[in-house]
Amino acid sequence: MKLESYWKHSAPAFAPASAEWPAKVDVAVVGAGFTGLSAALALARRGATVAVLEARGCVAAEASGRNGGHVNNGLAVDYPALAARIGTDGARAWYHAFDAAVDTVERLVREEAIDCDFQRNGKLKLGTRPQHYDELARAADRLRRDGVDSDLDVLDAAQVREEVRSERFSGGLVYRKSAQMHMGRFSHGLAQAAERAGARIHLDTPVQTLKAQPGHVGVHRLHTPRGVVEASQVLLATGTSRHGSYASFGWLRRRIVPIGSFIVVTAPMPAEHAQALLRERRSYTTVANIHHYFRLTPDHWLVFGGRARFAVSSPQSDARSGEILRQGLVETFPMLAGLPIDYCWGGLVDMSADRLPRSGVREGIHYSVGYSGHGTQMSVHMGQCVAARMAGESTPQPWDGRGEWPAIPGHLGPPWFLPAVGLYYRLKDRLQN
Ligand SMILES: Cc1cc2nc3c(=O)[nH]c(=O)nc-3n(C[C@H](O)[C@H](O)[C@H](O)COP(=O)(O)OP(=O)(O)OC[C@H]3O[C@@H](n4cnc5c(N)ncnc54)[C@H](O)[C@@H]3O)c2cc1C
Repeated sequence: MKLESYWKHSAPAFAPASAEWPAKVDVAVVGAGFTGLSAALALARRGATVAVLEARGCVAAEASGRNGGHVNNGLAVDYPALAARIGTDGARAWYHAFDAAVDTVERLVREEAIDCDFQRNGKLKLGTRPQHYDELARAADRLRRDGVDSDLDVLDAAQVREEVRSERFSGGLVYRKSAQMHMGRFSHGLAQAAERAGARIHLDTPVQTLKAQPGHVGVHRLHTPRGVVEASQVLLATGTSRHGSYASFGWLRRRIVPIGSFIVVTAPMPAEHAQALLRERRSYTTVANIHHYFRLTPDHWLVFGGRARFAVSSPQSDARSGEILRQGLVETFPMLAGLPIDYCWGGLVDMSADRLPRSGVREGIHYSVGYSGHGTQMSVHMGQCVAARMAGESTPQPWDGRGEWPAIPGHLGPPWFLPAVGLYYRLKDRLQN
């Protein structure tokens, strides 16, 4: 079993064109995940000189290359609850932001001819308790009534069993607009596209500190082990960053909780077994705080993930979480008990307190983070939106006007409270049974 991401291992490694160290650029983008690469592409297309500074030795080294491979529409939070909190218009706009985000990924795949198996097979949200079916049916009804989404199908337990070979589910809700793709091949193609447009990507280049140049409005100095670069504008596309000094990056760190999520991939199965297992080849997620998510690849590997443990990813922790996930996989699909696990890895989800993204400008520095597990599409979309904002265009931004962003009380950097959060959600799932 390989303790590494299937997406990274089965995609070509991106090797940046050799580039001189830039003394000065229009825009420095910190982080070469989807947010950073998408923004770099959009800014370079507009004629800006762009340096992408990435701490790790490859692009998409963190969440963007380590996720479940789903490109789903729909919110991370409950739509009726959000509508009750912020009103129907606001909730509708945020829901539609995810539709637009899936469209953005599809558009870039087409425009840049990225070979990444992008497919709109839909998402099936699966209930595991009888009351989940009622909740999903109610949510679908409300989404249709509010004119938010009519591309939905409610399935009862028998209908789910016709397309998912498992006895575990009480019903489900299909979101027809959702998609999936190969994350390693997408990140490779996106990095190549950014370079083709003129951006330069510097790997192994952690930004350690970030300072405004005293007396020079709009000049920022970014310090890295390879040298200093001056930039007129800076975008922090740093996800759950653990790089960079607390003084420069602490404000974001106190607002983002890095929560471990883990994935196993089975050995490939014969095509006819895969077809019988998940007939429609959708992205699947279960309704629970500590949930599972899974999908097949076009060549019939099963990618099965979940919040196995509230731990930070490391080789030992990934292996332990992999074993917990294997048990979850066998409970869901007992007929796969003998199938070997070929890959196992973990990653950190950039969770905000309300599970909605945050994007803005603070002290002249742009940021876009907090996608909370619904980020493969939104990070790409926000890269494009933030680039437009940095270029001075007045295009409306989905997450503008969210007001003040308070720090999470007691969160000073390392997420010491994760085991307690894990216990809370496990208890909540049990009480909801
Ligand atoms: C296990 C897992 C499963 C997931 N599954 C899904 C899914 O199926 N569908 C979905 O929609 N979302 C999913 N997500 C979430 C999604 O992958 C992320 O929201 C998205 O990829 C975030 O992209 P990003 O570019 O903002 O951040 P990242 O991909 O985390 O990129 C940030 C980059 O910044 C770099 N960096 C940080 N600090 C510095 C610094 N100081 N100097 C230089 N570089 C720095 C990091 O090295 C990193 O490469 C999942 C996440 C995980 C971890």
